[in-house]
Amino acid sequence: MPVIDVPQPAFMEDEEIAIFADAVGKFYKQQAPEKRVHKWREDGQVERGFWNEAGAAGLLGVSVPTEYGGHGGDFRHDIVVIDQQTQNGVEGFAASLHNTIILPYLVRHGTEEQKQKYLPKLVTGDLVSAIAMSEPDVGSDLQSITTTALKDGNGYRLNGSKTWISNGQTADFIIVVAKTDPNEGAKGISLMLLETEGAEGFQRGKKLDKVGLDAQDTSELFFDNVFIPGDNVLGGVEGKGFYQLMGELPQERLVIAMGAMTGIEKALEVTVDYVKNRKAFGKTIWDFQNTQFVLADLKARGTAARVFVNDCIAKLLEGKLDVATASMAKYWVTELQSEVVDKCLQFHGGAGYMNDYAIGRMYRDTRIARIYGGSNEIMKMLIARSM
Ligand SMILES: Cc1cc2nc3c(=O)[nH]c(=O)nc-3n(C[C@H](O)[C@H](O)[C@H](O)COP(=O)(O)OP(=O)(O)OC[C@H]3O[C@@H](n4cnc5c(N)ncnc54)[C@H](O)[C@@H]3O)c2cc1C
Repeated sequence: MPVIDVPQPAFMEDEEIAIFADAVGKFYKQQAPEKRVHKWREDGQVERGFWNEAGAAGLLGVSVPTEYGGHGGDFRHDIVVIDQQTQNGVEGFAASLHNTIILPYLVRHGTEEQKQKYLPKLVTGDLVSAIAMSEPDVGSDLQSITTTALKDGNGYRLNGSKTWISNGQTADFIIVVAKTDPNEGAKGISLMLLETEGAEGFQRGKKLDKVGLDAQDTSELFFDNVFIPGDNVLGGVEGKGFYQLMGELPQERLVIAMGAMTGIEKALEVTVDYVKNRKAFGKTIWDFQNTQFVLADLKARGTAARVFVNDCIAKLLEGKLDVATASMAKYWVTELQSEVVDKCLQFHGGAGYMNDYAIGRMYRDTRIARIYGGSNEIMKMLIARSM
């Protein structure tokens, strides 16, 4: 039984959405059982073939218009794919990055030719995507990137390096944030579309050794004079990259808040189940008043967070989610998630520190949510600007 039992919002009360959720849940259960996910954790990456399986089952490009090979859904279908993944413990598979962060760049900003060329393959899983913004010396201060894409004949030459890139080993389609005019700040930035197959001068670096997210192939990427065709500037016009990025960030931040929210729900569920079964001093752990008080507090704040997140989703569906509200959701819900997971781990005692237990892995995996997608300090700056 769910611990946080806020009624399903009206926008999700739709038979077609319920049928889709059922199908996605079945897919994850059948195709990504714990044994397979365990192997991904050991390998440090999700099998490439799983992306094609997910594509064939209709989990990729769910909100991409049908004329580009997509399934013609909306953000509610994206929510289903994210929620079912967390509920079924499918770690490492960056479908939310692919579906809700990267594909929207093409759908909203791509030229007709770019959409026709890339979206169908991104929907089938023939192309796996990544977005490369961060560099060894630049993260939060994106205007200061040093990767360049300079005009050369009928195209561009890409030079520089990126780091901490999710899907770094598997991606074959990468949106690279680069300066087409190094003398400019934001106005000099463009989003370059790189197909990695046959791209001379492109190299993947190490799969990075992280604190958590064991099944994610977060990596370094290197570009040594890599040729990018002239048609592969997103939207066909140079210098629009920073504004394209800023336009998509509210959705990206809400998606991180949504992931944190389902993480809070899952952590509370496994913990209530654990403390009601584990015994000490002749009682269950649940019977101690401390356990009930702490979990009651987390349930109360988790419930408030769920209501807030649902309100943000409703705003996004109406096209009204603003930067400050999305930043508040990302900041506050990820901070709460860290606290919830930490306190839930404590109730598991030594078992909580074991990687065999979901709560132990959650503890390691959740920490990054306060850093990526714009750190929580940057979120506070954005919130403060609205006052
Ligand atoms: C697992 C993982 C996956 C990632 N995936 C991707 C990806 O797919 N693509 C990608 O491009 N990047 C990715 N990143 C990078 C991530 O987005 C950056 O780490 C993040 O944006 C922060 O940048 P930074 O690490 O350079 O921190 P820095 O910018 O160096 O900041 C360091 C600290 O200073 C604080 N700080 C910075 N500026 C200010 C300020 N003005 N005021 C107050 N405090 C400030 C920050 O909040 C932070 O706490 C990933 C990182 C990880 C670890």
